[in-house]
Parts: sequence; structure tokens; C-alpha cells
Amino acid sequence: MEQNKFYALPKLPYRLKDLEPYISEQQLTIHYQKHHQAYVNGANNILQKLDKARKENADLDIKSTLKELSFNIGGHVLHSLFWGNLAPAGKGGGGKPGGALSDALEKEFGSFDRFKKEFTQAATSVEGSGWAALTWCRQTSRPIIMQIEKHNTNVYPMFRILMVLDVFEHAYYIDYKNDRAKFVEAFWDIVNWDEVNERLKEILK
Ligand code: MN
Repeated sequence: MEQNKFYALPKLPYRLKDLEPYISEQQLTIHYQKHHQAYVNGANNILQKLDKARKENADLDIKSTLKELSFNIGGHVLHSLFWGNLAPAGKGGGGKPGGALSDALEKEFGSFDRFKKEFTQAATSVEGSGWAALTWCRQTSRPIIMQIEKHNTNVYPMFRILMVLDVFEHAYYIDYKNDRAKFVEAFWDIVNWDEVNERLKEILK
């Protein structure tokens, strides 16, 4: 029988210092190598615990195990999406989207600036730790902004994620202290719109 698979930290599509000055090398290093890695390890540990309990037919606290599992898998998946929708400023990062994404945002929000304003407000007002996400509803073909508390609440099931922004304090405290709004403003200079457009293209296929 094939061995069970586990999660792994994905490779970054740029170097750790390439998002400077918007995200410093030190900030990105800790965020990626410590925080993201911790979610990968956390998810794998729980999967191993589940594998073991199932093999031995042992009892588990399923409720707390699943909660912990979703927190860690959510963290891993969201961070993987986050790294992918960033790029060095001026080298794929920043500016405005083109293509189908631009059309969809204009149709929904009236203008890119209106979208940017709403997404910024969503990100800055997430209660405690969480994320802002731009998602796609296939039923209505509308882009919808979500707030994700921690990694796993307020989520619309099955909505595909186009773009995320991490607003956990661990994402910005070294560079911006407690000033989340300043970090959210910096985010717009390193958004990889080509990648966000590619994600939309995959969904619309
Ligand atoms: Mn994070």
C-alpha cells in the first residue's frame, strides 16, 4: 500500500529579501520559516495522530482534533496562496490588474479604486487575527470579498480564493509594529495581479 502523504512548506517564488521595503527580509523569513512551517508541522502531527489512532482503533477527542486540524490546514493553504499572490514591486508586483480580473472587478465594484477601498476596509477591520480574501462565486459569477477570522470562520464554503492578505500581527509586527493599516497599504505595491488573473482563468475554464 502507498504511504500516506503529508504537507510540505512550498518554495517561495522569490527571494526572502525581494519584497523589501514593503516586507523586510527579517519579517518574511520569520513569517515563512517559522509561522507557516508551524502550520505545516501542526497539520502533519495531527494527521499522524489520526493515522495512529485509526491503526490502533484508539479513541480520540474528535471535536478538538478536527478544530486543530482545520486551523493548521487552513493556515498552510492560506499562506501558500498568499506567497503566490505577492511579487517584488515593479517586477510583477503592484499596479493594477488587467484581463478578465479587471473586467470582473469593474463590473462588480464600478472601479478598481472602489474595490481597493472595500478590500482595504475588509483587511483593516478583521477582528483579531485573520485574513481578507477576494473570492469567486461560481453561482453568480461575482467576485466576493470575505473576512476570515483566524483561519477558518466566516468562510463561504466552496467559494474559490483569488487573492488573500494575511493580517495576523505576525505578518507585520517587525516592519509596522501595531499599524495594520500601513501594512495593508503596502500590500498594494506587491500584489501579483498576473497570478490573481491566472487563478480566475482556472476557475472560468
Ligand atoms: Mn501568517
